[in-house]
Amino acid sequence: MRAPPIQITLTACVLVFLTIAFVLLQPSKPNLHWQSQEAAIHAAHEPDVGGHVIMGKLGNETIKAELGRSTWKLLHTMTARFPLEPTSEERTALKQWITLLSRLYPCGECAEHFQVLLKQYPPQTSSRDAASQWACAVHNKVNERLEKPMFDCSLVADMYQCGCDEEEGSEEVGLI
Ligand SMILES: Cc1cc2nc3c(=O)[nH]c(=O)nc-3n(C[C@H](O)[C@H](O)[C@H](O)COP(=O)(O)OP(=O)(O)OC[C@H]3O[C@@H](n4cnc5c(N)ncnc54)[C@H](O)[C@@H]3O)c2cc1C
Repeated sequence: MRAPPIQITLTACVLVFLTIAFVLLQPSKPNLHWQSQEAAIHAAHEPDVGGHVIMGKLGNETIKAELGRSTWKLLHTMTARFPLEPTSEERTALKQWITLLSRLYPCGECAEHFQVLLKQYPPQTSSRDAASQWACAVHNKVNERLEKPMFDCSLVADMYQCGCDEEEGSEEVGLI
């Protein structure tokens, strides 16, 4: 029997090599970090909560300033207490809350500006630190536009205490 031509042998070798390489490369998929997988699955089911600003112009400057102070306090305290290592579901919750805030904020003109800011600086939710620094930076952007002093974001964790010591013990603090 005659030996097969060299081209057929080479083609067969290449095909065998490609098959082995394909099979060996398959297990790399499960090596993805579990949170990335979870994030991908979650993102597929994540409802889009974005949309237009709902409230009208808020003319009263005193109410606008009080509302602003309270809201910043809430946002900075929320990010200061956000989990150190949030799950993808927790990350989505924060992102959606901020997106909804940009729709429902009772000062319509502020919300319009905030929506533009969110497009430029999307919420960072990968960790407590990332979220806190993001909130501080965005607040500074608003400060800049309103010609208010900039805040040193390295101080944000001291300013908005997490109060996380309470979480260390298993006892529920403050409950009678
Ligand atoms: C999302 C959003 C959008 C707004 N848009 C407008 C707008 O378009 N027009 C308008 O007139 N008002 C707007 N405001 C309100 C405005 O930002 C102020 O809250 C308001 O003018 C009162 O200012 P304030 O000087 O008391 O300090 P605030 O800016 O309310 O800050 C309160 C306190 O937070 C601390 N702080 C300051 N900067 C930071 C920071 N970067 N990080 C952490 N802590 C900080 C300081 O101790 C400060 O005293 C907006 C508020 C919010 C929440």
